[in-house]
Formats: sequence, structure tokens, C-alpha cells
Amino acid sequence: MAKLAPVDTSQIQTRLLIGGRWVDAAAGGEIAVINPFNGQTIVSIAEAREEDVDRAVAAAKAAGPAWAALPAHERGRLLLKLADAIEADKDYLARLEATNTGHPVRDCLSLDVPRTVLCFRYFGGMADKLEGSVVPVDAGFLNYVEREPIGVVGQIVPWNFPLMFTSWKLGPALAAGNTVVMKPSEITPLSTLRIGELIQAVGFPDGVVNIVAGFGHTAGQRIADHRDIGKVSFTGSTAVGRAIVRASAGNLKKVQLELGGKGPNIVFEDANLPAAVGGSAFGIFHNQGQACIAGSRLILHEKIADAFLERFVSLARSIRLGDPLDTETEMGPLTSRLHHERVLSYVGIAQTEGGEILSGGKAPDRPDLAGGYFIEPTIVRAPPAHRVQHEEVFGPFVSVTTFSDDDEALAIANGTAYGLGSGLWTQDLTRAHRFAKHLHAGMVWINCYKRVHPASPFGGVGESGYGREMGFEAMREYTQAKSVWINVDAKIPPFYVR
Ligand code: NAD
Repeated sequence: MAKLAPVDTSQIQTRLLIGGRWVDAAAGGEIAVINPFNGQTIVSIAEAREEDVDRAVAAAKAAGPAWAALPAHERGRLLLKLADAIEADKDYLARLEATNTGHPVRDCLSLDVPRTVLCFRYFGGMADKLEGSVVPVDAGFLNYVEREPIGVVGQIVPWNFPLMFTSWKLGPALAAGNTVVMKPSEITPLSTLRIGELIQAVGFPDGVVNIVAGFGHTAGQRIADHRDIGKVSFTGSTAVGRAIVRASAGNLKKVQLELGGKGPNIVFEDANLPAAVGGSAFGIFHNQGQACIAGSRLILHEKIADAFLERFVSLARSIRLGDPLDTETEMGPLTSRLHHERVLSYVGIAQTEGGEILSGGKAPDRPDLAGGYFIEPTIVRAPPAHRVQHEEVFGPFVSVTTFSDDDEALAIANGTAYGLGSGLWTQDLTRAHRFAKHLHAGMVWINCYKRVHPASPFGGVGESGYGREMGFEAMREYTQAKSVWINVDAKIPPFYVR
């Protein structure tokens, strides 16, 4: 066991970043930020309300023209400097993220922080690569299309991967020349506030990035309905996504939605079983299952179901639960008490409907973990009609069902309203491509699960939302096309003949 040092709470940034200055909330409210490992308050942060969002939007609006006019490579250079600063801050950021979210620090060190760095580097390099186009139109005309920034964008971040999602949203928005008002989740604001400090340290102009941590129904709602915000990028639940769309109607702002999921993960009879077991366990249990792309529905061919489950249950029981700051820990607590209760309520729902709990289904019986929001890795066998096969549980909870042929597997996989991540394990190339084509999903993983990269578009279909993060797609999301026509040699027929 190697327990890393707790963060020095006196060093944690707790205020709002508005117009390049760290300021108190206008109304003076505070939010207690809780450590999910022990239920204790880590720090109290300033609570942004509507008037603070208004101040942040005004600062972003004022900073907008100069930022958009900056040569694109200069914007890129600042993003690259930010990536370097985050890399240099890796140990602190990893401990801060582990303390606030409950992610095992080994994951923060190997995934969350490096992916955040990679994302800022990718978009730093992207800033001066976004090109317009020349369009073949009528003879005698030149038509070119430029991609222009939208202006002020509002970005609302959830609590499950706060550090990484901060980079997914800031990277493309800033590279494309927008200014930002970002609201981290009230539950996990600390790593985003730290990124704000690094943004200041590397020299972003004042007002380009504003960070206002606050509650959804006040600060979040104000971002969604603010008339000076041209676009909202939202990651969170489908229910709140709907509310954002309604609120956006006032000024018809662009909306990008990364919502919930209920990822199907299909294991065929010809799969490499050890690889499928390991990959499926990562797909659902990494980050305590609190991932929109979690492979939360295991769909097993009936011929291999028993052999798969024997290994899978044994692996699930061997996952090391513990203190997130211990480098040996593989699974930490869920991120909040309320969410812990919600996930456990699904164990009750599964049992009421006649599901069979194959493993877990409760808090671990360990005094050393009693203060934290832990749940054992939980495996439930339930037919496709049950609620746990349709509703997002968002915890270390996987629902298992079986199939006998490919058509049945596809029907089960496509049988929910969501369409975000999906996966399959098979050696049959033809089948792999057929399923890749027909799965109702924004992402398909074949013989792997939950791969993400800043160059590859990320997003969903159906009730998982619309729009894409990452890659060139994200740059298009954060810009709008302007079509310019020039008469270079056109004989325009007279419409009004006199
Ligand atoms: P949530 O919807 O409760 O909250 C997300 C964010 O929205 C928070 O910052 C919250 O303060 C804010 N918010 C809440 N009410 C609001 C309102 N009325 N107006 C504006 N903002 C409001 O989601 P959560 O519980 O933080 O996150 C979990 C959910 O996020 C899951 O459903 C998960 O699938 C989804 N998620 C989706 C993706 C994706 O990329 N598709 C990624 C991660 C999480």
C-alpha cells in the first residue's frame, strides 16, 4: 500500500474566475465540497448565482473580439503552454481529482490527467488547421466559406470526469476563437478551478475563460437562457438536457448535448473469452461505473454465458476497493451520497422485478470503508424488459442477459432510447462490420471498450444527445459557416427588364 499525501486544503482555489480575477460570489453564498471517501467537507467554495453568470458573460463578451482576432497559432500556443503546465502539475491535480471525485489516484495519474494534457495539446495543434472551403457554384462567381467563432459559449460540466471534460470543452472552444463561461458541477468543481489557475499562470488574456461554480437550477439555468451566449455545450443527464433545450429557445442559441447512455456490450460465442472478460470489466467498473459510455448491459451468447460469468464474477469480486489516494486501490467510492443511494435503489428495483443478483448489490462490509460511499461491483441477471436493462444506473452495476442468434443480439442492443457507446467481442470480421453498421450508437468498440482519443469524435444519437466533442467535428461545433459570394465575371440576367 502506498498512500499519497492528501492535498493541502489551504492551497485549493475556491473563488470564481471572472474577467481574469478571482472574486467572491455577489450574493456571498458558499457550497461545501465533500470528500466521498469520508463524507467530510474538503473546502467551501463560492457559489455562483445568476448575477455572477451575468458578470462572467459580460467579461467573456468583452474579451471576445480580441481573442477571435488573435492569429490562430497564438491561441494554439497558449493551449500548448496550458498542456505543459497541467503535465507539470500532474501529481497535485491527480490527488485533487481523487479527493473530490473518489476516482482511484492510479486512474487519475494514468488516465484522467494524461488525457487532459493530450486533449489540450491536440486542440493547441488544431487551432491553425481549421480551413474553410471554396464551393463550385454558378459560372462567374467565387463562393468561399469561412468558419467563424460563435462568440461567447456556455459550458456545463458534470461530476463524473470533471478534469477531463473541462479539457474536452475548453480545448476546441478556445482553439476556434470563442470565449467561455464554464460551470463545473457543484459536486466536483475543484480540478476545474485548478485549471483556471493554470490558465491564468500561462497568460490567457483576461475574460477569455471564466469559471463560475454553482448549482444547476440557478447558475446553470442562467447560462442556458442567457441572451448573450451563442451556444451551450452540456454534458449531463438526459432530463437536464431537455431543460437546457427549452431554456435555449429564448435567443435560439446552438445547443450541444452529451447525455446519458445504457451501453450494450455483446459477447459472441467466438470471442476471446479472457480478453472479453477483462475488457468488459473495465467497460463497466472503471470509475465506479460512473461513465456515460459504461458498458452497462452485458449481452452474452447463451453458449458461453456460464463460462464468461464464472470468470467475470470472480474478477469483479477481486477488484480492490479502498482509499482513492492509495495507489493500490482499483475502485473508490461513488462521488456523492445521494448518488450512492440512487444506485443502491436500483438493486431494490432489480430484486422487485425478479432479477438475480450474481455478485455485489450492497456496500462492502468493511469498517475501513464505512465512511465512504462505496458499493461492491454488482452483477445482475435480468431479462431485457426489466427497468435495469433500460434505465441508466450510472454505478458499478451491470445488467446481464443472453441471446441465441445475431438478430436477437442486435434487437436487444438497440432496444433502449439511448445510443452512446456500444461494443462487441468476436473474431468474425464480417459480423463485426455488420454490427458496427447497425448498432444505434455514436461509438462502437470492437474487441475493446471505452476507448477515447481527442482526435476521434465523441457523442451520441437518440436520447444520448446530439453534437460531437473531439476531433474536427468539435471544431465545426464551435464555429459557424459564413458563405461569401463574389461576382468575378458573372453576367447576371436582368430580373427587371425595363
Ligand atoms: P446532471 O444533468 O444532474 O448535471 C450536469 C450539470 O448540469 C451539472 O453541472 C449541474 O449543475 C447542471 N445542471 C443541473 N440542472 C441544470 C439546469 N436546470 N440548467 C442548467 N444546468 C443544470 O448530470 P450529472 O448527475 O452531473 O452527471 C451524470 C449524467 O451525465 C449521467 O446521465 C451521464 O450519462 C451524463 N454524462 C454524459 C456524458 C456524455 O458525454 N454523453 C458524459 C458524462 C456524463
